[in-house]
Amino acid sequence: MAQKETRIIITMACTECRSRNYTTTKNRMKQQGRMELKKYCPRPSCRRHTLHREAK
Ligand SMILES: [Zn+2]
Repeated sequence: MAQKETRIIITMACTECRSRNYTTTKNRMKQQGRMELKKYCPRPSCRRHTLHREAK
């Protein structure tokens, strides 16, 4: 299966403690700009669902 460059791997970082907890893929054709997701942050300073933003 040919992998097109439209799907790129991005890192999701917690907006509160800035730790990079998740990686995901996004479709560059469909999603433009920064992605934001509510994710569980395992860091002791958070340990709850926080907003995670795409990190460069
Ligand atoms: Zn956090």
